[in-house]
Amino acid sequence: MPDTNVRDPLHGITLEEILNALVKRHGWAGLGQRVPARCFLYEPSVKSSLAFLRKTPWARRKIEAMYLRELPRRAPAAPEACITSVAATLLAAMGVAGGLEPSAAAPDARALKLLPAGGVKKVLVYAPDAIGRRMVTLHAELFENFFSAGFTRVDVRSVFPSKTPVCYASMFTGLPPAGHGIAQYEKPALGCKTLFDALPAGGVKTAIAAVKGSSIDLIFRGRPVDYFSGECDQQVTASALELIENGGHDFILVYHQEYDDLLHAVGPWKDGAVAAVRRHADAFLRLAEAFDRKWSGVPRAALFAPDHGAHTDPATGKGIHGDDCPADMDVAHFWKFST
Ligand SMILES: [Zn+2]
Repeated sequence: MPDTNVRDPLHGITLEEILNALVKRHGWAGLGQRVPARCFLYEPSVKSSLAFLRKTPWARRKIEAMYLRELPRRAPAAPEACITSVAATLLAAMGVAGGLEPSAAAPDARALKLLPAGGVKKVLVYAPDAIGRRMVTLHAELFENFFSAGFTRVDVRSVFPSKTPVCYASMFTGLPPAGHGIAQYEKPALGCKTLFDALPAGGVKTAIAAVKGSSIDLIFRGRPVDYFSGECDQQVTASALELIENGGHDFILVYHQEYDDLLHAVGPWKDGAVAAVRRHADAFLRLAEAFDRKWSGVPRAALFAPDHGAHTDPATGKGIHGDDCPADMDVAHFWKFST
């Protein structure tokens, strides 16, 4: 039997440590503002607050959720690139010069270090909604096959607010939300230059396969690329496999959303939601294998690129995202370059 504690992100941390960390960060008054309890507001002490939290499950849940949400506010060991670096990295990999807005972020040097001399001719990008770095940490077993398939993990930070159209607009324009204009959950076609303008301008035949009505399906419309909309992830996978097999495109972007649907419905760490992450990981490897078979011998790149993570909303117990907290903002991308 697996050790279930491994799945518990609060394993090994006492309630007292949690309380002390939060008091240090927010002060008693700040804590009382977020979790309205007498013990935080009137003559607060660690002792009385611990006693209160131990006999008041709703308050304890709130405190623990707050701690988890803010937990890894540690200084990163190495400077971590933002997801805005992805657009320029992909263009550099394909040898396409320019094409983005002048203020677009520079390529991610960590990914480019993996690039074969001469760059790549074919690219597959898989965009699964809402799989954050915390999922990759808590359920490492779901991503193990990525490493045996030759992928390298590159950690990146998302943009705020960590909502799908905002983040994918940033990822594929190279711009922060203020630069591309989508700063909330809305899905207008982008007015600025995007990867999907730059690629066709550079002679790259490009396709986008996404769930109908999703952010990726809508915000990059009006470009000289081929769009394929499916009713569900499975239909999108089928279209993408067909696209790969037909070999008519140099760059294919595939978007899946089942995990995001489920995390909002049941919570990000619930079995049902985690099962969807497994389906995303499996679908990605299946697409990557088909891509490798098709273009064996041709320099190519495959990328697993989620937009943001998620956390548990203490008010509902269900999943939510959009905050500037590590659970929402920290993601892990996986790159593979082959020749
Ligand atoms: Zn969502």
